[in-house]
Amino acid sequence: MDREPVICIESVGVRYGQAEALRNVTMPIYRGCITAIVGPSGCGKSTFLNCLNRMTDMIEGCQVAGRIRIDDAQIIGRRIDLLALRRRVGMIFQKPNPFPLSIRSNLTFPLKEHGVRGRRRREARARRALEQVGLWKEVRDRLDEPALALSGGQQQRLCLARALVLEPRILLLDEPCSALDPMASAVVEDLIGSLRGRYTVVIVTHNLAQARRVADDLAVFWKVDGAGTVIERGPASQVFASPKHELAAAYVSGRRG
Ligand code: ADP
Ligand code: MG
Repeated sequence: MDREPVICIESVGVRYGQAEALRNVTMPIYRGCITAIVGPSGCGKSTFLNCLNRMTDMIEGCQVAGRIRIDDAQIIGRRIDLLALRRRVGMIFQKPNPFPLSIRSNLTFPLKEHGVRGRRRREARARRALEQVGLWKEVRDRLDEPALALSGGQQQRLCLARALVLEPRILLLDEPCSALDPMASAVVEDLIGSLRGRYTVVIVTHNLAQARRVADDLAVFWKVDGAGTVIERGPASQVFASPKHELAAAYVSGRRG
């Protein structure tokens, strides 16, 4: 597989007011790979993801320092086109959050917002996104029903479709399966695995077995001296087999965390 870094994170630090959430985070994220972020709660995993599409801008008092380069553009500390960034870097959260609209509108509305003209064109893209997440057959006869009437697992797949419909290159997933039952979780996890190669995926998960199954690369975050940082990273197989850091070793073996 191509090991070209698509996101370069260098010396990133994040503060919420006086509180330091992340310190000195440096890591590459490789194109077409699935990078899993693991670590105990509160160690800054969500904060890290939020930096990658500048969701941190929405949080009052949140300050990000350091450098994050996506493709050839620095995205930190300068004025950039945030709508364009978020089109390229889609995001899915722990709790499925479809818009309180019809299933169809959940997909056609973002397309409209992003300037895609023509109802038929938008509907064709909506269908393709639903097919990609394996929902088309389940919902084709009820596209005008409320998205919130779908099951949790279906809602999460719809949220994934809503991100995919904008044809992003990078997907950020923050514990996308942890609010789902085991069956729905397995479906979403398989779907994430199927994105490998076509998208660059960064997934936060507290489920180590899931990280082992889906990740190409693994980063272990830990709170050190009051702020989260990366204590171990590399190809997932290597980090699981022979972690160098004592805490990372204890964590990935399930002895700690
Ligand atoms: P994780 O996702 O690993 O559980 P978070 O990134 O959510 O960790 O949180 C990292 C630290 O930043 C925690 O100490 C948390 O309390 C703090 N934090 C997160 N979000 C905010 C916020 N909006 N305002 C203030 N502090 C926050
Ligand atoms: Mg979190």
